[in-house]
Amino acid sequence: MQRTDVNTLGEFGLIDHLTENFVNKQQTTILGVGDDAAIIAGGDEQIVISTDMLVEGIHFDFTYTPLKHLGYKAVVVNLSDIAAMNARPEQITVSIALSNRFSVEALDELYAGIAAACKTYGVDLVGGDTTSSNKGLIISITAIGRAPAGRITRRSGAKVGDLICITGNLGAAYLGLQLLEREKAVFKDNPEMQPKMGEHAPYLLQRQLRPEARTDMVDTFAKEGIVPTSMIDISDGLASEIFHICKASGVGAIIEESGVPIHNDAQLQALEFNLDPITTALSGGEDYELLFTIDPKDTEKIRFLPDLYIAGEIVAKEDGVKLHTKGGNIHPIKAQGWNHFGE
Ligand code: ADP
Ligand code: MG
Repeated sequence: MQRTDVNTLGEFGLIDHLTENFVNKQQTTILGVGDDAAIIAGGDEQIVISTDMLVEGIHFDFTYTPLKHLGYKAVVVNLSDIAAMNARPEQITVSIALSNRFSVEALDELYAGIAAACKTYGVDLVGGDTTSSNKGLIISITAIGRAPAGRITRRSGAKVGDLICITGNLGAAYLGLQLLEREKAVFKDNPEMQPKMGEHAPYLLQRQLRPEARTDMVDTFAKEGIVPTSMIDISDGLASEIFHICKASGVGAIIEESGVPIHNDAQLQALEFNLDPITTALSGGEDYELLFTIDPKDTEKIRFLPDLYIAGEIVAKEDGVKLHTKGGNIHPIKAQGWNHFGE
């Protein structure tokens, strides 16, 4: 029998490979694999469902992740996928696999974080599963949301001429992680050392350890009478996400570097790390902001909204996915990010 390493396909190639032969037969399955969440028919409204799994040592490191924060973040990353469909999250299920290393007190901390997120976002914990693992902790959360059918926003609706918009700011969570990794390395060499995070750390660490989901945007869109033409949450960096939108919509994009929001603390920390700030926005991850496109006729409805930035335009597929830099150059963006020092 042939043995193909899963790395030859990559994450998205693997998902495509595993799911390509599944054909949806239920009339209630409106949208299956391939977006931030699946869409299920439910009368006048539709139900959206999304699952994410977090694995110790891969997605989180207990050297610097408090259990309470982990619980909160595990919920938030799922609610972010529901927000990315322009739907309101209502329920979650939480499944955990744990080794005997974890005490009841430790799990109470984890669940205190889960409870805090449920309270913040007004979602109910309605089930899950608990089992043992040989090593470490695995958390899998499913989030369920709802929206009127006409408001649900997929990745696939972007049209040439649409404006590309970004909420909040990008790159800070990645820089927070770099700070934590740096101090972990220092600590490993010398356990007597106290961590020296620096002046930009409070904001950056908060973005990394305790992110928020932009469910508020779902309300903003409803209030302003806007339905974005496409939307995705920014979990893997702007470069990766704009590619998802372009691929699903069959279009290209031009991103204006000057339009990509970057927090002042992220800007300064990136420079301290000798990184180009725009690279951290394009290739960093875990910001959980929203990337969406709107019809230009809606420009006036969003122009003066706070915490929202117009960062480019959808172009024809043939024109590719490009970055117009502050220096006036045009670079192709690569799916895995844009290397300032490359080319
Ligand atoms: P996100 O980054 O928004 O969490 P993913 O990249 O994890 O999304 O998943 C992309 C799509 O593939 C989603 O529709 C997801 O439900 C689906 N998917 C991911 N892994 C699997 C799997 N093992 N089997 C079936 N569908 C999957
Ligand atoms: Mg997503």
